[in-house]
Amino acid sequence: MVVGCAGRVDGAYLSAGRGHRSAGDRFTEHLDYTRWTPDLAGLDPYHPVATFSAAEGRVVPPPFDAAGYLEAIERCRDRFPDLRILTGLELGEPHWHAEPTRRVLDAGSFDRVLGSQHCLPDGDTFREPPGLFARRPPEEVVTEYLSEIERLVHESDVFAVLAHIDYPSRYWSASAATLDLARFEEAFRAALRATAQSGRALEINTVLPMDATILRWWHEEGGDAVSFGSDAHTPAALARDFRAAAAMATAHGFRAGPDPYDFWSRAS
Ligand SMILES: [Zn+2]
Repeated sequence: MVVGCAGRVDGAYLSAGRGHRSAGDRFTEHLDYTRWTPDLAGLDPYHPVATFSAAEGRVVPPPFDAAGYLEAIERCRDRFPDLRILTGLELGEPHWHAEPTRRVLDAGSFDRVLGSQHCLPDGDTFREPPGLFARRPPEEVVTEYLSEIERLVHESDVFAVLAHIDYPSRYWSASAATLDLARFEEAFRAALRATAQSGRALEINTVLPMDATILRWWHEEGGDAVSFGSDAHTPAALARDFRAAAAMATAHGFRAGPDPYDFWSRAS
């Protein structure tokens, strides 16, 4: 099973994905309402973040075209009848946007719904980790990010999987150091505990290899299930490093169940 954050849905993903020999693919399209101020330094001017922020200086996510998305899925199913192609959404900060998020979920059929935190408040705007790290002490950013994860899982009940809890580590570049998880153990454990107690699965997102310590803490804090997400955004990245992610999950006490489309569950 592949869970890919598609960005768009088309046959190119599935053609590219043929090599990974999965039983199927799941496209989790973004659904975002937070208007945030991007850090445009070094960004291609044609990158969606740059084009969506051109008018206001803040990223204004375009309205989600649920009918268009579901039609694209149907076209892919027609073209690749031997694959099981499932639907999904990645909800950005759904606890801040309960009403519009609920309207989209009620209007369509989505097989898997992820929840994620991309931004934090910053003055009169919102910023993602690159902009936050440029303005605030990195320890403060990571701690606040993990506290917001606790609020996310407490205040929203519309998603089943917490996506990329290690999102700030993608951008932790202060002194070119890697994120020293030990400094944030309590904050990580609190966020993981809240997620486990809410009955959700934890996504192992393979944009970066997840630090195995996080998975160990997830297991120790009572986490029951994991899922895998390549957050692909391009066809070539579909299912990236899933073999290593699966080996890590196995080593930390999680097993594939009888249904290849389902989460991996706790073995012990
Ligand atoms: Zn995300």
